[in-house]
Amino acid sequence: MSALLPCPCNPSLSYAQCCEPYHLGQLPGSAQTLMRARYSAYVKHNIAFIQATTLTAQQEQLDIESIRQWSTDSKWLSLEVLDETLAHDQRHATVEFIAHWQDVQGLQQHQEVSLFIKPAEQWFFYDPNVPLRAERNAPCPCASGLKYKKCCAPYF
Ligand SMILES: [Zn+2]
Ligand SMILES: [Zn+2]
Repeated sequence: MSALLPCPCNPSLSYAQCCEPYHLGQLPGSAQTLMRARYSAYVKHNIAFIQATTLTAQQEQLDIESIRQWSTDSKWLSLEVLDETLAHDQRHATVEFIAHWQDVQGLQQHQEVSLFIKPAEQWFFYDPNVPLRAERNAPCPCASGLKYKKCCAPYF
């Protein structure tokens, strides 16, 4: 019964009370919630969720096989969320975190400040490995419908 298992992102909650609803299609209400659900998706090898919650314009270019390999070859230990910021426009947010895992080389940790964007109803992760850019007066690649200069230009 997966519902009774602790959530990978926060063992004090059950998976059913924490990240499972997002993996079943509910939209995370904040960047931190999405960050946690993405970590839990790595733990559960739910690569479709990782892809679907990456900014739409980047999804095609993701290296799905290497993401899957990293997901399955790692023993995921824990996630610490250190900080979260929300821009005045309510559509850009950052989450600073440390992920801990173990692989054949031993214990690993990675600290990062990730960018999250909400073009409309849904928060997405911006993958810095697949950089996006546009002319200042062109439509923003995040698909918000705004000009790039009025949207994501300060962020990427
Ligand atoms: Zn969770
Ligand atoms: Zn944008």
